[in-house]
Amino acid sequence: MARDYASLHDPNAEYTMRDLSSETMGLSNSRGSRDVEITDVQTCMVDGNFPWTLVRVYTDAGVVGTGEAYWGAGVPELVERMKPFVVGENPLDIDRLFEHLVQKMSGEGAVGGVTVTAISGIEIALHDLAGKLLDVPAYQLLGGKYRDEVRVYCDCHTADEADPEACADEAERVVEELGYDALKFDLDVPSGHEKDRANRHLRGGEVRHKARIVEAVTERVKDRADVAFDCHWTYSPNSADRLAKAIEEFDVWWLEDPVPPENHDVQRTVTKGTTTPITAGENVYRKHGHRRLLEEQAVDIVAPDMPKVGGMRETRKIADLADTYYVPVAMHNVSSPVATMASAHVGAAIPNALAVEYHSYELGWWSDLVEEAVIEDGRIEVPERPGLGITLDMDVVADHLVDGEELFDEA
Ligand code: MG
Repeated sequence: MARDYASLHDPNAEYTMRDLSSETMGLSNSRGSRDVEITDVQTCMVDGNFPWTLVRVYTDAGVVGTGEAYWGAGVPELVERMKPFVVGENPLDIDRLFEHLVQKMSGEGAVGGVTVTAISGIEIALHDLAGKLLDVPAYQLLGGKYRDEVRVYCDCHTADEADPEACADEAERVVEELGYDALKFDLDVPSGHEKDRANRHLRGGEVRHKARIVEAVTERVKDRADVAFDCHWTYSPNSADRLAKAIEEFDVWWLEDPVPPENHDVQRTVTKGTTTPITAGENVYRKHGHRRLLEEQAVDIVAPDMPKVGGMRETRKIADLADTYYVPVAMHNVSSPVATMASAHVGAAIPNALAVEYHSYELGWWSDLVEEAVIEDGRIEVPERPGLGITLDMDVVADHLVDGEELFDEA
């Protein structure tokens, strides 16, 4: 049983190092401090609005951690490929295990892509697991929290996404009926003026049409909500520059990925050429992938996808690098409640968190996947329960398995 907090601070008490070891500081692992080993890793794919890849790490202590990897072909096979590298290891050594997996998979894509995504799913499960073993919420493993709740922005869609008034009507509905004060709309929508999208050039009519969408939405919700707009890496630098300048007069939260992601010089030039805040980051990997974006101040806001970029600690490291340039973090997210809650733990633990994305408002059973409440009134209250603080509803998981998938084993 853990010694109570007050007695630890009794100046008259005498303690040995052993008294203050993890064995007496609240470890719920009944077998004693670090005497725990990983025994298995399993995946289970759920057919959400994306194929959510849930990951479970099992231990000989009978405690199981649940995580989630961003979707991607081959992610479950890569998790299976990595299983021998973590079985027998101590799940409390999260940082070392992450680096171990990166090193073991360095010849198989650990710099970027689905290998990093698969590692992310294991890493998140380790945070859930370690939190349960240590009886602390996952955010505590990242250094404690700056905030009790994390703001969520809602990715919005309309039947006619090119109609400015339809977009404004949907913004109004999401603010008033769903309770969000932060939204995002796609801006790479057809305008009817296109000649050839392959050349990335925006004609004048297209720029004016997109500016009308931005004006209609931002003017409709005004101070009731912040609104971001996503371009999905579509335009040439000159077109991105003209679009960003055309919407400078409106209250744009950020303009996301206006240019393709591979060329940092172009990204930096576009960002520095406008007062419209520019965001990028969702399709680069690990802290190394974000290094130039941040060191060259090529983004005003950085947008890592936590269950894709390397996991919770890697996102914390990216946020730390961003914070040295005073850059806020808006976490891209298309995940189930598992990785969404994990992103919220990261958002609680970093100073520069702006918001976490919610990309599933059209999926009626999203919140049913776990037993606890996740998003309420456009916020996630970060739970004080051990680990991620969520419990899969296995009946809901079973109802929505991807064809051919099998449920996780019992702990
Ligand atoms: Mg995006």
